[in-house]
Amino acid sequence: MPRLTQLTMTEAPEKSRARGDRIGAADPQCDDERVQRCPGCGAPALPIPCDELFERLLALDHSRQAPWGPLHGVAVACFLLQHPSREPVSARPVRWALLHAFLRGGQAEVAALTQRARRLNSHRSGGQSPRVDAFPGAPAFPDSEPPTTFGTTIADVAGDGDFPAEHYADSVRTWAADTIEAWQARPGDQG
Ligand SMILES: [Zn+2]
Repeated sequence: MPRLTQLTMTEAPEKSRARGDRIGAADPQCDDERVQRCPGCGAPALPIPCDELFERLLALDHSRQAPWGPLHGVAVACFLLQHPSREPVSARPVRWALLHAFLRGGQAEVAALTQRARRLNSHRSGGQSPRVDAFPGAPAFPDSEPPTTFGTTIADVAGDGDFPAEHYADSVRTWAADTIEAWQARPGDQG
């Protein structure tokens, strides 16, 4: 079962303490905990909802500046595997495989594999997005019910809402690792 305490465990405790305190056991608003949580990733819905954080992150990504732009595909994979209702079930395995490639070989590996896939796809099918076989070496996608809590969420990566550059690469790595871990921890046969 989901462990709610996971939400306060991040690699940047000084950044997340404000959020953690908000949902702490001593918080008189604790009764409202359910309605204040994102149904996807389990992060506190306040002060900034996940959807708005994702919009802000996409704006940074599309600026193509480092450190955000080069990690766009990784960040999108993390976010969508933590909010999987936003796209078809069939889209999950390639996100999963991309994150494994990233954790194995870093952004350079993801970039090389993405470029290779685009070259191949432009011959086959007019340059569609990479498919799951573009990122070989990942274990099979755990085709289970999506987790609803994660050790790191977009709220942790966002800091105060501006995705600070100095921690961004490390934060995304933790975000990716915790996304993989949460999915892996859920066996396919929950019954
Ligand atoms: Zn969320």
